Amino acid sequence: MDIVLMGPPGAGKGTQAARLQEKTGLVHLSTGDLLRRHVADRTELGNQAYGCMSRGELVPDELVTTMALDQVFSPPYTSGVLFDGFPRTRAQAVALEEALASRQRRVAAVLCLTAPDELLLQRLTGRRACGDCGAGYHLLDKPPAADGVCDACGGGLLSRDDDSEETARIRLRDHHTVGAPVEDHYVRAGLLHRVDGTGGVPEVTERLLDALPLTVP
Ligand code: AMP
Repeated sequence: MDIVLMGPPGAGKGTQAARLQEKTGLVHLSTGDLLRRHVADRTELGNQAYGCMSRGELVPDELVTTMALDQVFSPPYTSGVLFDGFPRTRAQAVALEEALASRQRRVAAVLCLTAPDELLLQRLTGRRACGDCGAGYHLLDKPPAADGVCDACGGGLLSRDDDSEETARIRLRDHHTVGAPVEDHYVRAGLLHRVDGTGGVPEVTERLLDALPLTVP
């Protein structure tokens, strides 16, 4: 079963995808995480993607699509993927469908998280992660005990380059322009379920599980 989780930056896709993976067995594939790994490892792809990512722009379709589709037919992704942050353009959506169809697979549902822009901005600009162990924090919802210091390992907390207010605004604006045709595409295919992304993390997970076309034990 292949599922797409989409929504604007800051809607909680990463957090919710990790929880859905735990509860459903779907395997989480985040193109943002894959790209950040390429950037950290200074691969050729990472070097090509870095400029776009730091400006809050989308990485060109061809780069992202090749990177994502390279993973989809190898373990642990062979029996179904929970796509997070992919597809983000109509061209990516079409490429994904064609690739899945070539292996008798298809997107079974698209869950689209929604939240007002002001809340998204607040979530993006307050995000922090430990530079050493990667633990995630939020200045409002989940602050560390000591300012700027990881509770788990004492490492320093960092914000993502693309979570500055200026860049976050660009990412939100682009989501509305480039993302709208992707939503339309999935509405026309009868696959899109809009899910309210406001409120507490467990509450949103329950809404997503209710929208998923599978039975969770
Ligand atoms: P995310 O972690 O999903 O917010 O992605 C972080 C950044 O990676 C985005 O702002 C884009 O620059 C890039 N990115 C991630 N996924 C895609 C995609 N499907 N298409 C183009 N760019 C992407």
